[in-house]
Amino acid sequence: MQEYDLTDAQKKAFADNEADFRRLDAQVRGTQETARARLIAHGWGSDSEETIPCLSCPCPDFQPGGALHKCKRGSCRHPLSDHDLPE
Ligand SMILES: [Zn+2]
Ligand SMILES: [Zn+2]
Repeated sequence: MQEYDLTDAQKKAFADNEADFRRLDAQVRGTQETARARLIAHGWGSDSEETIPCLSCPCPDFQPGGALHKCKRGSCRHPLSDHDLPE
């Protein structure tokens, strides 16, 4: 790994950023759980382990290859984070 010559303030800025991104990850997880529960409560749920259904529309499985890592399905086009990612 390459060593970068960072000031302490720059190192702290990176550490703060990383912590914020991890917080965002936890938030996305929480939002996905809420979204999943909401759909199940209304009779919409997938029990398949092999598909990654969208939680923002009825898209049954994430289709990689869309712009900016979004779902390629024309009726969906939601980002991967809107889809029900496996644990
Ligand atoms: Zn989709
Ligand atoms: Zn969608």
